[in-house]
Amino acid sequence: MSAEKHEFRAEVQQLLDLMIHSLYSHKEIFLRELISNSSDAIDKIRYESLTNKDITEGDTEWKIKVIPDRDNGTLTVSDNGIGMDRKDVIEALGTIAHSGTQEFIAALQGSEVKDDPELIGQFGVGFYSSFMVADRVTVLSRKASEQASKAVKWESAADGSYTVEDIDKESRGTDVILHLNDDAKKYLEEWEIRSVVKRYSDYIEHPVVMDVERTKKSEIKDGETYTDIEEEVLNSRKAIWLKEKPDVSEDEYIEFYKHISHDFMDPLEVIHFKAEGTSEFSSLLYVPSHRPFDMFYKDYKPGPVLYVKRVQIMDHCEDLIPPYLRFIKGVVDSSDLPLNVSRELLQSNRQVELIKNSITKKVLDTLADLMQKDNEKYHKFYSEFGRVIKEGIHYDLKRREALADLLLFESTAADAGKTRTFKEYIEDMKDDQEEIYYITGVSREEVVSSPYLEVFKEKGYEVLFMYEEIDDIIMSSLSDYKGKKLKSVIKGDIDLDKKGEAEKEAAQKRYEKLIELLKDRLKDRVKDVRLSGRLRDSACCLVGEEGGMDPQMEKMLKAMGQDIPETKKVLEINPSHPLLESMTEIFEKDAKAQVLNDYARLMYEQSLVLEGSKPSDPSFFANMITKLMVSGLKEGKEGKKD
Ligand code: ADP
Repeated sequence: MSAEKHEFRAEVQQLLDLMIHSLYSHKEIFLRELISNSSDAIDKIRYESLTNKDITEGDTEWKIKVIPDRDNGTLTVSDNGIGMDRKDVIEALGTIAHSGTQEFIAALQGSEVKDDPELIGQFGVGFYSSFMVADRVTVLSRKASEQASKAVKWESAADGSYTVEDIDKESRGTDVILHLNDDAKKYLEEWEIRSVVKRYSDYIEHPVVMDVERTKKSEIKDGETYTDIEEEVLNSRKAIWLKEKPDVSEDEYIEFYKHISHDFMDPLEVIHFKAEGTSEFSSLLYVPSHRPFDMFYKDYKPGPVLYVKRVQIMDHCEDLIPPYLRFIKGVVDSSDLPLNVSRELLQSNRQVELIKNSITKKVLDTLADLMQKDNEKYHKFYSEFGRVIKEGIHYDLKRREALADLLLFESTAADAGKTRTFKEYIEDMKDDQEEIYYITGVSREEVVSSPYLEVFKEKGYEVLFMYEEIDDIIMSSLSDYKGKKLKSVIKGDIDLDKKGEAEKEAAQKRYEKLIELLKDRLKDRVKDVRLSGRLRDSACCLVGEEGGMDPQMEKMLKAMGQDIPETKKVLEINPSHPLLESMTEIFEKDAKAQVLNDYARLMYEQSLVLEGSKPSDPSFFANMITKLMVSGLKEGKEGKKD
């Protein structure tokens, strides 16, 4: 059959263009990516051969061979892994199987990528990185258990299309042949290949080999030398997670991270430990320094690589970590699990549960440590992953407090940009203070001068600021910290003045009629009207029910098109505000005065504005204010005349 031409999916060509034109540094990583693919392909057939011996047809001498051909200017990476058939090739090398690809590429094409081309590395460029060094790439592959005549050839020059044709191939596996461009001819040199393999693929478990010329002394003819070709293994093949910590260099840790995560950037933190006792395993885990771009997509694959006694079983084992640690990358190598462990078995396996518990504890301890020892680094971590950690408070009852200890908040007690923890909050609580207070809103600017904070400021009680939609839900789940109740200052009754009961009663009496009037005029808009314990300078505010939704969450759900039942709030009025006294005086003179109706409505409308919502009738609101301004100005003028 002759070659069949296929167009690349649009995003593939875009990605290729970006790679060819924006990535200038570290082009040598193409070799790491190809060796890594070969190693994965070998892992796959080895894993299958555990249950189906015949699949290998006796060829189990796993090997990845690098073949420089100086005459033809090609570099080939060849393996005896699982191989690909026609369908596999079209799927694997013609498309990109990540959701969010389009958005990501659009972001990359933005101006920032020009300043930071390594951003593209977040994507895991893999096979396509070949085109950074090659004008043309040919892939020859024969899938395991397929006849020699059923092999396939894939070829492309990254010009929008590729061809696929049937060929004969002697042996199982895949050859990736790079027709190197002029700038990349150095990758044909023995020492260059050696150094790139050593640097990036030293820990690959399978041998990476190359034919090298050796000068030898003849044993027959004394003294005479001759050259011989020998296949040499280039990598040390040591599983670095099995080594002792002092035996692994910083660089080795970093390179290994880049290998398993496909991330160009260095990790933020390395967690290397061995567990012994009820569960025996070695683990090398990493906290990345930035959020994987697809972390919030449905098909994001969380979880470390799972090995059993050095044999790779699964490239992402999500049963080994809780969902709120899904950003953690790394390797877990268990000595207890059976080699032919299946996905179903993993889900209900006690050993897996033990490993998961142990990893979770270790990661949380490491983060807590980081917070103590390197605050700046911790802040970096928190800005990337704080949101995900919060999810844990909702889902992991057992570790709620440990997770709460990791949270950071701005607050009334810290300057902009500085943060506080629950622990610090508790330590600095006033003697007579019983609860932990927080306010939700969209930003510091919005909450910092909110009327809801008035009484707390007066009493010197700290209030934590929370800006994420999920915060209110998380705080409700958490409910308390070290026995101190968590309370939103914008919801429920606040009564901090334990003394002054007589005064409160007097105020209640004085404004009873006014409260009745407001209740009547606003009966369609508010649930109740009451005197406020939280206001000091402002006249009024709206307050939600203790367990109710906060305005942020309400807004978000509405924006998502959800039908939120209208819940009425309570209008709180400030007994020490002169407005109440003036309105009561008018009421006593003429209980039916129109101005009382207008003011009642205005109090409601401005309370909406204060909680961060829109007035229910913006034009009424604006008209009323204008009217007041005019009458204020008139009074001012008349006042002057007098
Ligand atoms: P990734 O390795 O992240 O999936 P790549 O672009 O590197 O992305 O590879 C895409 C796919 O092509 C792989 O998932 C695999 O299915 C297939 N592939 C690449 N190289 C080989 C190989 N040497 N042998 C078998 N399959 C391969």
